[in-house]
This record gives sequence, C-alpha cells and structure tokens, in this order.
Amino acid sequence: MVKQKRIYLSSPHMSGNEQKYIKEAFDTNWIAPLGPNVDCFEREIAAYIGTKGAAAVSSGTAAIHLALQLLDVGRGDRVFCSSLTFIASANPIVYQGAEPVFIDSEPDTWNMSPQALKRAFIEAERKGRLPKAVIVVNLYGQSAKMDEIISVCDAYNVPIIEDAAESLGSSYKGRKSGTFGKFGIFSFNGNKIITTSGGGMLVSNDEEALEKARFLATQARDPAPHYQHSDVGFNYRMSNILAGVGRAQLEVLDERVKSRRTIYKRYQAALGGIEGIDFMPEMDGTMSNRWLTALTIDAHIAGISPMQMIEHLAKDNIEARPVWKPLHLQPAFEGAAYYPHQAGVSISDHLFRNGLCLPSGSNMTLEEQIRVIGGIMELFAKVEVTRALGLPVS
Ligand SMILES: *Cc1c(COP(=O)(O)O)cnc(C)c1O
Repeated sequence: MVKQKRIYLSSPHMSGNEQKYIKEAFDTNWIAPLGPNVDCFEREIAAYIGTKGAAAVSSGTAAIHLALQLLDVGRGDRVFCSSLTFIASANPIVYQGAEPVFIDSEPDTWNMSPQALKRAFIEAERKGRLPKAVIVVNLYGQSAKMDEIISVCDAYNVPIIEDAAESLGSSYKGRKSGTFGKFGIFSFNGNKIITTSGGGMLVSNDEEALEKARFLATQARDPAPHYQHSDVGFNYRMSNILAGVGRAQLEVLDERVKSRRTIYKRYQAALGGIEGIDFMPEMDGTMSNRWLTALTIDAHIAGISPMQMIEHLAKDNIEARPVWKPLHLQPAFEGAAYYPHQAGVSISDHLFRNGLCLPSGSNMTLEEQIRVIGGIMELFAKVEVTRALGLPVS
C-alpha cells in the first residue's frame, strides 16, 4: 500500500512574502551582521504585542538565558519554573549555575498553579531562599492565570519571565501574551506558530535592559576601537536574513491564529462528544492561539489510552505526540524541588499520563484534518464494536 502523505504536528507555513525581505537583504548585501530587517522585526513585534521594545535573538532559549542574565541569576540562586513545559524553559537556569524549582499546573489552564506557587514562596521565605525569578509558561498557546501569579510574585517582589514561546498572538484579558512579566520571550523555531527557521525574541518595557541584552548578545563588546570586553557575553543575535523571514511571517500571524483555532474547533465539534475525551480548556477572558490542539483521554472510560491513539494514527503516517513530560520527572532534573498543586495531587503528572497533542499546523488542508478525525473515530468505533460483542477491550 502506498503510504499516505505525512501529517505533521506543526510544520513551517510560509506566506510567500518571505522572499521579498530576503531579496532586499541580498540586494543590499546586508547578509550579516544584523541590519534593517532585524531593527524592523523588533519594532514590529513590539508594536504587535504592545511593549516598548524587543531584542531579536537566535532562539527562544537564548532569550530566556539573556533574561536570567539581566536579572542577575547566578550560581547558588534559585528560579521557580513551570514543570509542564518543554525543557528549554528551564535549561538556561542551569546554564547560569542556578537551581530550578518546579511548580505544578492547575486544571483550568494546565499552567502554573498559583496555590502551588504560593506554597513554594512561603517555604522559600521560611528557609531564607527566595527565588531570583519565576518563569511562567503559556502552554500550547493558553495563558496562565496571570493576575493570581503576578499577585503572588509581587508580594515577594520577585520578577517574572513570561515564556510565551508557544503563545504568540494569544491574549489574557485583552492584553497580548508575552507582556506580563519583567521580560517576555518568544520562539520562532520551525514548529512554532510563526517561524524564522530558528530564532527568538526578548521583549520588555525596560528599554535599557533590552539594550543591555543586545550588548550581551553580541559578545559584550565595549565601545573601543580595539576588541575590549568587560563582560562575558554570548553570540545570540538574529541574522538579518532570518529577521526578513520573520517580518513576512508576522504579517500573517493573525491569519495563522485563526486557522489553528478553526482546526481546534473542528476537532472539538467532531470528537468532543466522545465519552472520556476532554479538550484543553480555554479559560474565560483568555484567547488561546491553539498552537497545538491538546486533549486528555480517560482510558477507563474511553477504552483507549493516549499511546494507543498515537500508535494508531502513526500507522496512517499521522504525527501525534504525548503532552510535554513534566520537568520534575526528567532525569536531567532529578532531585530538583517540586511543588504539586495540592499535597499528593500532581496535575502535570495526570496531564502527561493522559494527554496528547493532535496535528494543528495552519497549513493542514481540510482533507488532512478529516483524515486525522477519521483515524481517531475509527479507533473508537473498533472499541464500540468490541464492547458490543461482549469481548474484552484490550
Ligand atoms: C519552543 C520553546 C522554547 C524554546 O524555543 P527555541 O527557539 O526552540 O529555543 C522555550 N519554551 C517553550 C515553552 C517552547 O515551546
């Protein structure tokens, strides 16, 4: 049998306008370093989300690393971080020689639990070891409970880094995602809602800090005719070519958000009635870009586990994935402190065990969306038939 065309979880979706900006860069030989596309892309992102400024860098990870450096996070310090996220949220904590402390999710947004965060702060204060920063993630495009989280962090005067790598274009109470912390970060990795093939952005209202970030991201070169460095910096700036790709991608961001939300709505309309399936919620007052459609399957009710579903779809060349494995369960962070939502109740463990992400790319055709939905329904139909015949459901 000829294999069907592969359907990816989230693949790059070009607008067609990227070549225009790349050509401009070539025509003016502004290949490197930096250049007008970088300056424009920074201004355009800042204008889109509503911050005073932005600094374009080589990845979302680099943006988090710079934010930690700017907040003076160093050896022996602690940083609180969402547990249910991609490992890049926390790796820069370790680059700085600091120690991550992981905070569980709550069920309404799947993001950082304000009550777990509060417990972590109370204990940290008692031990005289308050964190230097809190990294809050907006999973799959859904904003965390920002009001509650900000109120806890403000009470201890600890700055927030908003990891909005997955939530560009989303909003919380009418305000754009990425604007809630002292710093926000975005990623333009190939699988994100818009891409520069690889890249990231640090955003803030503190323009002085952003200027310092640009300085640190270009090897911390002091103003001198010779090569003079008073600081150890990084090589983290975005290239002028890639910023050109980003400018064209940003022009279609709102369309991309719309497409992904439409895909989610179709999944929800077709599958929402199946017993045991629950889609990732969208909290009142928030608008998620639905970067990835995520859901949980209760295997006891549905008769199917998420892994069975993933394997079933894989047979038809469809990529589905489990929800991020929580960082407190990662071997790389063995021994790190962890604060569950409630004593003995870890929401992120539950979401990891029962969750999966469906293909959600804005370039998926309607036919491809129907293929995914059909594949899922087929597996549920098999379970129905098995049950109707009185046979055991494996
Ligand atoms: C993708 C991602 C990052 C890292 O971005 P890169 O550009 O790949 O370095 C960080 N945090 C989250 C939550 C992400 O999804």
